[in-house]
Amino acid sequence: MIFEDPKQYVESGFTPEIIIIGSGPAGMTVARQLAKAGIPCALLDAGEEYFSDTSQEVYKGEVIGDHYYRLDEARLRQLGGTSGHWTGWCRLLDAHDFQKRDWIPNSGWPIGRDAIEPYIAATRETLGLPDFRDDQPVTEAMNWIDLIRSDPVRFGEKYRDELAESDKIAVVLNTYATDLEAQGAQVTAANVVSPEGSAYQLQASHFVVATGGIENSRLLLWSNEKSADPVVPDATALGRYWMEHPEFVCGEAIIGQPATYTPDEDGWAYFAPSLKAMETAGIANFHALIFPNLYGGTKKLVADLACTAPSAAHWFANLMGHNLICGAHLSMAMEQVPLYENHVALSSSQRDFSGVPRVELHWRKGEIEGKTLVEGLKLMGATLIEKEIGRVRMDSWVSNGPDYPTEGEIAGYHHMGGTRMSDNPRLGVVDANCRVHGMQNLFIAGSSIFTTGGHANPTTTIVAFSHRLGDHLASIVT
Ligand SMILES: Cc1cc2nc3c(=O)[nH]c(=O)nc-3n(C[C@H](O)[C@H](O)[C@H](O)COP(=O)(O)OP(=O)(O)OC[C@H]3O[C@@H](n4cnc5c(N)ncnc54)[C@H](O)[C@@H]3O)c2cc1C
Repeated sequence: MIFEDPKQYVESGFTPEIIIIGSGPAGMTVARQLAKAGIPCALLDAGEEYFSDTSQEVYKGEVIGDHYYRLDEARLRQLGGTSGHWTGWCRLLDAHDFQKRDWIPNSGWPIGRDAIEPYIAATRETLGLPDFRDDQPVTEAMNWIDLIRSDPVRFGEKYRDELAESDKIAVVLNTYATDLEAQGAQVTAANVVSPEGSAYQLQASHFVVATGGIENSRLLLWSNEKSADPVVPDATALGRYWMEHPEFVCGEAIIGQPATYTPDEDGWAYFAPSLKAMETAGIANFHALIFPNLYGGTKKLVADLACTAPSAAHWFANLMGHNLICGAHLSMAMEQVPLYENHVALSSSQRDFSGVPRVELHWRKGEIEGKTLVEGLKLMGATLIEKEIGRVRMDSWVSNGPDYPTEGEIAGYHHMGGTRMSDNPRLGVVDANCRVHGMQNLFIAGSSIFTTGGHANPTTTIVAFSHRLGDHLASIVT
């Protein structure tokens, strides 16, 4: 069923067991998993079926700290959420991302990756992915890794007909959940408004917040201000430890015929460090992408590199005219250390049409990210030399600082943390089952639950956790 607004839904008399707020990859996956188990749920979305400026306007907010994208351009408020314009790069978090690493502050999930592995097949089906390939060591320090460039699933388009035909899922569009109400350890209602401002109160026995990696914090922060009893009883970590994947084109390389890895059909290849290499260098996780420079300049790069690294001249001379493949660019995407200071807050002066405070995002890259960029590039360079594959040159802004660029790609549009998972309610918002600490019937889906963010684009892991949450909810409501 698809209802165009909350009025239509209320008049239908549909009674859900579970209300899921947000129909992006996270919320829609939970709903589909519940429907498979025969459990009726309402899938609310603030947006319409397609993009609209009016809906997007609510996503405006302010960023305080490092240069970042406009918040109303960094996500989509419509059926299927931000999958309406994601790129489709897919990879699960690494098993070692879940571990406590002594050199990464606040690292360590309460569960291992094995908790989501039973859901890999379902995740691949939802995202239309081939099998994941195991990482292959190139050296002790670096692996050639798989980062699938999929045909991106637009959840609103791909699953629209299934949702329309379902008698278990009631999709309710144009339904903005402004806040939740709690009594003791129970959420009792979601307060929603239509775009025209008509207000309704919706009830169910369980609630799932799946409004994206910024809005999850915003909705819960505002709920805590409005509700007589708190919705997140210990709010110490609420909105906190927010993370992105800083991401930059940061160097160039000359690449010979690689014997140790196979670039894809476009000449792209991804590499990531071993846990040992990260520990030795005291850095966070990252991936480096080598992709061909299609715009020339290779001869100049060879000349420059030969001047700055005379020992490489012999190697270049051997390659020239033989098996020199190309000049390449190097980009890096890095894990960001979860820091308390990086957080989602409510604006004290700006509100949207419904009176909910706009988002204020406090975000800065830290020391370890800078070190990861420099040391990661060095590791990549050393790997290419050790295997006689090529030579790397860092861009000067990296070696000089780093003095981060403010133009072009600067981060992945990956919004993580804010309601992180921890066994300790002071250090996290949800427990190992994605249930809000201290609440019996409130759960969270999406990358806001990530304790640490690894280097992998988040949606594959989001979908895996959402299948797991759907399964868990099915087991407790039946
Ligand atoms: C340009 C771009 C490229 C990207 N490329 C990749 C990629 O290649 N790989 C990858 O893994 N990730 C990528 N991402 C990130 C990816 O889109 C997100 O990780 C993913 O969409 C998050 O899913 P979600 O369901 O948690 O949130 P969203 O997709 O943001 O969905 C949230 C939903 O909640 C609704 N909503 C919000 N607030 C409310 C409210 N108060 N009440 C009711 N409904 C509400 C919204 O309308 C939306 O439908 C990209 C993002 C962008 C912007």
